[in-house]
Amino acid sequence: MIRRIPSLFCALIALLFALPLAAQVPASWTKPFPPFRIAGNLYYVGSGDLAAYLIVTPKGNILINSNLESSPPLIEKAIESLGFKFSDTKILLISHGHYDHCAGSAEIKRMTGAKYEVMAQDVPVVEAGGHNDFHYAADKTMWFPPTKVDRILHDGDTVSLGGTTLTAHLTAGHTKGTTTWTLDEKENGRTLHVVVVGSPNVNPGYKLVNNKTYPQIAADYRHEFEVLKGLPCDVFLGAHGVYFDMLAKYDRFKNGDKSAFIDPTGYQAYIADRQQAFEAEFKKQSSAATR
Ligand SMILES: [Zn+2]
Repeated sequence: MIRRIPSLFCALIALLFALPLAAQVPASWTKPFPPFRIAGNLYYVGSGDLAAYLIVTPKGNILINSNLESSPPLIEKAIESLGFKFSDTKILLISHGHYDHCAGSAEIKRMTGAKYEVMAQDVPVVEAGGHNDFHYAADKTMWFPPTKVDRILHDGDTVSLGGTTLTAHLTAGHTKGTTTWTLDEKENGRTLHVVVVGSPNVNPGYKLVNNKTYPQIAADYRHEFEVLKGLPCDVFLGAHGVYFDMLAKYDRFKNGDKSAFIDPTGYQAYIADRQQAFEAEFKKQSSAATR
């Protein structure tokens, strides 16, 4: 027994060095959140902040976002506790190719056999596990399991299953293939336009000027803001709960306000705020570059 301890110790140390450095993630990303029906056949199945959405149809279900590598069991539990089968997941979509929205994809494909459908410009990054990301290629903490894409999507493509159709809008900048999903839901005889924002955010360290690995980044962001402003939106959702103030809205929803997620004004205000943040950062970088 005693003689086995050093070898066990060595094995543990070796294992620690062999493991990729796990990114430090906020607690809200891994904290379970009660799943709930948002409108029509659309459900929230994500964590306290990392959003995942389930669209339930008679022909099987569509899942938007697989989140962290550790998230699939959490998503499975959320889906099953709503009374649906995780194994009925036929199509897997993502908001964009960053590890907090797509690291669980390989595992979800393995568990459910779902078809993975990704915007063309994010496909190389998703299939390489982030090793070729325009900004994070050298940052191991941002890498994720490489995942084979089954259908390559282009701007305006639709994804249909069992009577529900989603539209993929290329809203690039945050990644080269950031995708905003739209769909219509019927609720109390009313048609609601749903928007799941892919990400309008400029991450710390992003180069908006003279970016060698993503020369058209600023033009893409500007195009994104024009697209987002033009989308009809009743139900405002996004890749992270913080985009649309999910926690506050969920509190109202839980207390009986069934229209808590209907927020066209909040949607436009959010887009305007993010555009302002982008333009401020662009101005700062431009003046630094010409100095
Ligand atoms: Zn991201």
